Amino acid sequence: IEVVQDGSVDLAPKRFEKAYLDWMENLRDWCISRQLWWGHRIPVWYCDGCGEVFASLEDPDSCRRCQSSTIRQDQDVLDTWFSSQLWPFSTLGWPDETDDLEYFYPTSVLVTGYDILYLWVARMIFSGMYCMNDVPFSHALMTGLVRDFEGRKMSKSAGNVMDPLDLIERYGADALRYSLVSSAIPGNDTNSSEERIEGARNFANKLWNATRFVLLSVDGERPDLTDTSSLSLTDRWILSRLDATLEAVASGYEDFAFAEMVRVLYRFIWSEYCDWYIELAKLELGGPNDEPTKAVLVHALDRILRLLHPITPFITEELWSRLRPGSPKLIRSDWPEPGSHRDQEIEGTMERFQDVVGALRRLKVDHGVPPGRRVPVSISAGDFASEVEQTLDAIRSLAKVGEVTLVDALQTGPSGGRTITAAGIEVEMDLEDVIDPAVERGRIARRIEEADEDIARAQGKLSNEQFVSKAPETVVSKERQKLEDAAAARAKLQSQLDALGA
Ligand SMILES: [Zn+2]
Repeated sequence: IEVVQDGSVDLAPKRFEKAYLDWMENLRDWCISRQLWWGHRIPVWYCDGCGEVFASLEDPDSCRRCQSSTIRQDQDVLDTWFSSQLWPFSTLGWPDETDDLEYFYPTSVLVTGYDILYLWVARMIFSGMYCMNDVPFSHALMTGLVRDFEGRKMSKSAGNVMDPLDLIERYGADALRYSLVSSAIPGNDTNSSEERIEGARNFANKLWNATRFVLLSVDGERPDLTDTSSLSLTDRWILSRLDATLEAVASGYEDFAFAEMVRVLYRFIWSEYCDWYIELAKLELGGPNDEPTKAVLVHALDRILRLLHPITPFITEELWSRLRPGSPKLIRSDWPEPGSHRDQEIEGTMERFQDVVGALRRLKVDHGVPPGRRVPVSISAGDFASEVEQTLDAIRSLAKVGEVTLVDALQTGPSGGRTITAAGIEVEMDLEDVIDPAVERGRIARRIEEADEDIARAQGKLSNEQFVSKAPETVVSKERQKLEDAAAARAKLQSQLDALGA
């Protein structure tokens, strides 16, 4: 009780402290014997001569009362948890004073399910205090139970059991491990689904392909990031984001916020490094001054592999052996520390750049412009004009558009598709040569009909009492989401149709 109250043992999440103390302050007598084949045998003997029953620390040869040698030890063993509570020190050689016991006791973090907080954690703590006169660990992290995608406990009779070996066979051990960590909020149960594991497998593929691209780009070279004076805007941006990620992951471990940590890593690796930085690096590679970009590509990938290693150990070790051939294994390498590359101004610039590219990509999709068609674009960027001017080539390349012109104000014209970003930057596509208003009106009208059908279908289902009361909650909420999405899509299409005029 005292060591939890004074913080010598920290239970995470905190709410388990109350449960722990309630139990410890209201202990009841507890049956310690079990009829099991294996365990610590109860040290109690019965004398067949005089009927004496006695306990002894040493195995006795004779009855302590009548000295008869016809004595029997009790057949029962101690309850499993009695044996398990000795685990933190008996595994290290206790009661001998071994080097292992000296070095590893007490340990730092114990990780276990909250369902055995009393059965195991509490007993390890009090037996540690009793036998070792010290707590067995400074932190006990309570994990949740893994449930099925609807939150039901997995059971054979319900038929919702996911066999880890089968999942590993199909998606890989890294994907399973990643998907579990990505949903691990301490103390909360997690709902598992194959979609999530499939997503993790796709993430592993993305990492594999990105590494292959980097290795091809640098060929046999592994340039070091030593000279940072000649880095481009995008080089400095990805280094800034890398530092932010390193900080977030460090505090994620500190707070046991694994799900949040994986979310940060996913965003950095998939979106910022693969989708943005590598695409932008392609514009530099092969140019006269591509050494700094090569160095940043390698440096960031090096840090990515280190950061991901605890979560996806197999693929990162494999990729590491190719990125750093001849160096010690990744599992032996140092944990990366943030540098001094954080730069809020550059991050702001790149955020606005990404918004502009995103807006142009959406305009192309919304107006049915074929992906390969490079239509001219005008941008009115206000206060950000000089900043946008530096990124015009990148905008043209990543948004797959034609000539990009910076203007003070957009002209009002009937042909354009236009939109505005969060930072107030206005973009317009010249669609005159691409879109025949009559054809475009027909196309949008057909899509409105489709949206109307989707809306009618979802409304039909949701107005059916039988469906709403009988179908699982996830199915019903999925249907509600469909209705919402279809209605939003319809409204957007209608405004496009209105913009085209009659
Ligand atoms: Zn006796």
